[in-house]
Amino acid sequence: MSKDSVLVINCGSSSLKFAVINPKTEEESISGIAECLVGNDASITWKLNGEKQTLDLGAAGHEGAIEALVGILRENNLMEHIEAIGHRIVHGGEKFTQSTLITDEVIQGIEDCSHLAPLHNSAHLLGIRACIKYFPELPQSVVFDTAFHQTMPAESYLYAVPYNLYEEHGLRRYGMHGTSYRYVSKTAADMLGLDLDNSAILVAHLGNGASACAIKNGESVDTTMGLTPLEGLVMGTRSGDIDPNVFSFLNKQCGYSLDEIIDLLNKKSGMLGLSGLDNDCRVLENAAAEGHQRAQLTLDIFCHVLAKKLAGFAAELGRIDALVFTGGIGENSSMIRKNVMERLSIFGFDVDEQANEETFRGKSGVITKPGSTVAMVVATNEELMIARDTEALIAG
Ligand code: AMP
Repeated sequence: MSKDSVLVINCGSSSLKFAVINPKTEEESISGIAECLVGNDASITWKLNGEKQTLDLGAAGHEGAIEALVGILRENNLMEHIEAIGHRIVHGGEKFTQSTLITDEVIQGIEDCSHLAPLHNSAHLLGIRACIKYFPELPQSVVFDTAFHQTMPAESYLYAVPYNLYEEHGLRRYGMHGTSYRYVSKTAADMLGLDLDNSAILVAHLGNGASACAIKNGESVDTTMGLTPLEGLVMGTRSGDIDPNVFSFLNKQCGYSLDEIIDLLNKKSGMLGLSGLDNDCRVLENAAAEGHQRAQLTLDIFCHVLAKKLAGFAAELGRIDALVFTGGIGENSSMIRKNVMERLSIFGFDVDEQANEETFRGKSGVITKPGSTVAMVVATNEELMIARDTEALIAG
């Protein structure tokens, strides 16, 4: 049995996603999710050889989920293939500019960044500690969502608030989706035959959480998410950019408490709040096709805000070698892609209707006509990127 695969772990506040991936062949031997880890009815579901199975875990927590995972991996003779573990970490603050092998110092560093993403980083630490307990012999690495954006210049990451808030409290823009941007920009450059070190690429990562990024010579120079994922684009349930005085308006005029406002902007706004229907882009597209005007307006606002951000990023980059769509919406919605590209026609996008319509469900490819500024779809694969980083780190 060769040790050729990486166990990728992605801990959320109440869930744990996992996959065993061979970074060389890109083959995924098992993947799954443990859910409801806060409470008494946790379960773990996994897909192996095309078959799905579920096991009830009771009051498992993250550690119980890892223990159950060990059993599943042993039962299916997968344990002996695993050479290392790679963890997805949401926030690395300014401390972590790249993926790294786990040491006590690294664990302390993640703890030190916890105030920037309290729910996420504390869940990641639970996962890391459980893996150290149940896989004591395996090296482990951490791959940060924020690390890719640490190349942003100060003019991109600083807020125009008193400077001491940055110096003393780390109040600044960090950005998210960095692992996806790294994977997608490199894949796009490879597919187009571009030299990544001399390239200007715009990426729109459009999922339930959505952001965009300006990537110059393979490095992030600007992105739409900020201190938290709330800033920037219209999302499934997040408002994206708003006037900060909306806080006092909602408090004074509408009687909302601080917690209620935060809940409203994060969980009840965006596509869900605007449409009054759903946060799922598919539901809105279907409703709009049946004449639901507010669903259409919601989709138009989503595209309007995105196009505005991309146009600004294009000016920052000075040229566009490619605009890349990724994420659940970016990879599947020809309607959103077309709407956005038409709004950006000043930059020379000329949509290839057929290619655009035919690119979905994990397919990658160019969706513009010859002679047009290139727009394309790249199916993201953050897990593969984590597996690749982990393998590279253990190889030294
Ligand atoms: P993600 O967070 O990347 O998993 O993406 C989730 C989003 O992708 C949801 O808003 C889905 O509605 C959207 N999505 C998935 N498939 C389609 C599709 N065929 N057309 C439009 N949106 C889609």
